[in-house]
This record gives sequence, C-alpha cells and structure tokens, in this order.
Amino acid sequence: MSAKLLDGKSISQQIQQELAAEVAVFTGQTKVEPQLAAILVGDDPASRVYVRNKQRGCERVGIASKLYRLDDQTSPQELLELIDELNHDAAVHGILVQLPLPGQIHEQQVLDAVCPWKDVDAFHPENVGLLMQGRPRFIPCTPHGVQQILHRTGIEVAGRHVVIVGRSEIVGKPLAMMLAQRDSALGATAANATVTLCHSRTRDLPSITRQADILVAAIGRPLFIKREMIKPGAVVVDVGINRTESGLVGDVDFPSVGEVASHITPVPGGVGPLTIAMLLRNTLQAAQLQAK
Ligand code: NDP
Repeated sequence: MSAKLLDGKSISQQIQQELAAEVAVFTGQTKVEPQLAAILVGDDPASRVYVRNKQRGCERVGIASKLYRLDDQTSPQELLELIDELNHDAAVHGILVQLPLPGQIHEQQVLDAVCPWKDVDAFHPENVGLLMQGRPRFIPCTPHGVQQILHRTGIEVAGRHVVIVGRSEIVGKPLAMMLAQRDSALGATAANATVTLCHSRTRDLPSITRQADILVAAIGRPLFIKREMIKPGAVVVDVGINRTESGLVGDVDFPSVGEVASHITPVPGGVGPLTIAMLLRNTLQAAQLQAK
C-alpha cells in the first residue's frame, strides 16, 4: 500500500489527553463533575459495544457517566418520561440516546425531546439549525471526527473538492454543511470546501467520486468504493463500519484504494475513535454552558 495511514486512534488519544486536562481545570474551578447519561433501549450487541466504549471514554477523561438500560418492549411514553427526568436533572449535562431504537419508538420524536442544551449528539432540530447557519452550539460527533482527522494531519479542505457519498442526518448531510461553511472552530482552512453530496440516486457515481480531492464514504455497504472510483492522490476517509463474516470492514476497499490514494483511514481505527472523542468534547462543553 502506498497511501499514508490516517491514524484515528492516536489522534483520538491525543484529543482525550487534551480533554482530560480541560475537564480537570473545569472541575477544579466549578466543583462540577460533567456527567453523561446514556440510554440504551433493547439488547442490540453492536449498540451495547458502542455505549460501553463511550462510557470507557468518559472514565478516561474524568467525565461521570450513567447508563439507563430499558428493555426492547419499552413504550415511547416510558422513554420520553425518562428523558424528561434527565432534562430536569441538574447533575446531568449530556444525554445520549443510542440508536437504533426498537420499531415501536419514533426516533425523531425521541431526539426532539432531548433538551437542546444537553443534546451532545447534536441531533435536535435547534442544534441542526444552528449548525446550518454556521454558529453551532454542539458539532455532531462523527462529522466533527472527520474534520478533526483532516485538520490534525495537516490536510486542508479549503478550496478543494470534497465528495461525500451518503446523505444521512448523522453523517453525510451535516458534514457537507460543515465543510462548505465559511469558517469553523478549527479555522477557515478546515472549511470552505466545494462539496458534492452523493446518494443512492446519484447517476454515474464513479465519474463524480473520481473528481474528489477528498472522498468521504458514509454508505454502510462493505468495500463499496473501489480503486477505479478514486482520483490518484486523493485523500480517502472511510466512515463505514460493516460487520461481515471476515470481521469489521469499512465502505472502502482498503487494499486496492490504498494503492492509489495519498492518505486513507483504516477500519477499525479510523473515524470510529474520533466519534467517541468528539462526544466527550460535547459533554464537557455542555457542562461548561450549563455552569454559566
Ligand atoms: P444510512 O444508512 O443512514 O445512510 C447511508 C447513505 O448511503 C444514504 O444516504 C444512502 O442513499 C447512501 N447509499 C446507499 N447505497 C448507496 C449506493 N449504492 N450508492 C450511493 N449511495 C448509497 O447510514 P449512516 O450515515 O448512518 O452510516 C453510514 C455508515 O457509517 C455505516 O456503515 C455506519 O455503520 C457508519 N457509521 C460510522 C460511525 C463512526 O463513528 N465511524 C458513526 C455513524 C455511522 P439514500 O439516502 O438515497 O438512501
């Protein structure tokens, strides 16, 4: 492989070290311990792992976390009551509802019920609106992770053509919005991209991905992005996490794409660890906002 590896794991560790120091200062000054409440409904094994990793992250940086486990028969009303209780609990600064939720529960209704000041996933419409206007309260975790990986490895996005495949509310759409803004918390070089957002109805996808200086795959289809879809020298960021018989793989055919790309993120060890780090950052920020 000729591409340089973008090591999300070590960047995440670096951010968590920075965060641990910031949490210590905040707690020292305010005597407030930031706290994340995580809600897990049902018994999905992947969701259990994600929540456990998020809680471990909290522990590492000095954020308290509490897990609320509800069974998969939980009614929407019960879940909404728990969220209401946590919204009013002054000791809780961030609320995370692990997705997906069981079929009887309407996801958007639940996400809308989280107090916008505790919405550390940045899914609430108020926070989405603020992000869209370029004045975010919280930055959504996975898109922020992608931006951080690029920024911290010295890859500027300003003026470059970023092609994102996948337009979900969680990854593709907010990332497109963030990279196209005039500025960002990481400075103007981490924004100001020319962005193309692709999806399942995009015609002749390879002809578009081949124009990308930076290609982001957030599709949810194992090894979907092949070598012939890449412009030689492009930077490739793989957000995908797919469980296959041969283990975890991304949306990018890593060995073949790694031959033509200049930089590439691995799966695992790429964007995933950054998503957790950015959740921790949002939780600290929520505590800071609520302490004002
Ligand atoms: P969604 O299923 O919500 O969205 C997938 C997107 O890919 C949709 O916009 C869809 O298009 C598009 N798509 C599907 N098939 C094609 C195709 N053949 N050609 C072009 N576009 C296509 O997924 P998410 O955004 O939630 O997740 C994407 C991946 O990222 C998953 O593997 C998920 O596990 C992973 N993920 C990883 C995270 C991390 O921390 N690393 C965090 C979140 C997600 P359309 O809109 O037309 O249906």
